[in-house]
Amino acid sequence: LLRLADEAMYRAKRAERDGTDPDMEPLAADLSDAVRNGQLRVHYQPIATLPDGRIVGVEALVRWEHPQRGTVPPLSFIPLAEETGAIREIGAWVLSQACRQVAAWRADGHDLHLAVNVSPRQLEPGLAERVFAELSAAGLAYRDLIVEVTESVRVEDPVAVDQLRRLHERGVRIALDDFGTGYSTLRYLTALPVDILKIDRSFVAKLDGTPEGAAVAETVLRLSQMMHLETVAEGVESPGQAAELAGLGCVNAQGFHFARPMPADEVSGLLSEQDPASV
Ligand code: C2E
Ligand code: MG
Ligand code: MG
Ligand code: MG
Repeated sequence: LLRLADEAMYRAKRAERDGTDPDMEPLAADLSDAVRNGQLRVHYQPIATLPDGRIVGVEALVRWEHPQRGTVPPLSFIPLAEETGAIREIGAWVLSQACRQVAAWRADGHDLHLAVNVSPRQLEPGLAERVFAELSAAGLAYRDLIVEVTESVRVEDPVAVDQLRRLHERGVRIALDDFGTGYSTLRYLTALPVDILKIDRSFVAKLDGTPEGAAVAETVLRLSQMMHLETVAEGVESPGQAAELAGLGCVNAQGFHFARPMPADEVSGLLSEQDPASV
């Protein structure tokens, strides 16, 4: 009993330190079975052009339908999966599903690219080759894929950097997700082979029509132009934000204003409204 109490105390302390929920710890055990038991789903959030809102891509976002807890959001289990290593299997599954889905949309005449989130833990030897194999199995081109990494990738990790280089050399684009929220943001631009900057939604939320509100978004857009990078604004929730971004020269955006992440069949509905079959 003492040991149990000890353990509970330890878990609570650790949770306090890490900001995690001790209730989530039993999830770790379930997580390793989630892929095998078919409990994961991929939702897709449209990425649109400004100002017209045309869908030009989708970001794959994983969901876990837990038999007891219901839908568990990624922020509650991705960190856990990174810790246990289950992220490798989850990441491979998401990539495979999403490649097939986007290939099907493309076969229906919708010119879309696919963006997939990749954790640092996945950037190990062989990752790039597995990605190439998956693309070719689905019938997608290298250009059709965007790999999104956050600033939690360690730029001193030669293996991670090498895998990103291999992807980039073939034409898979690398996006820096949540750009601007890391510790040494600008360092990533020279250390990693970056193609796209995703303006974090905290900066989009600051857009209020004033120069101060626009300062960070505008700086990221200028930086992108100077470095010949593409930009995607994240978390666009209002017409005002979309208009302000368009005015700043931002071409791609994502957010609830355009569409929430949704199951594939709902995206299919939006796509067929956008590109009515022309036969
Ligand atoms: P992210 O890659 O930055 O994905 C964007 C997140 O912002 C998504 O949260 C999306 O639902 C949310 N979002 C989109 N538009 C808006 C908006 O207008 N307003 C607000 N408030 N939020 C918006 P989600 O789906 O909960 O995913 C959270 C994070 O979990 C992702 O952030 C990504 O870092 C991670 N994640 C999701 N799926 C995967 C995956 O398959 N693999 C890995 N490694 N990470 C994943
Ligand atoms: Mg992302
Ligand atoms: Mg993001
Ligand atoms: Mg984010």
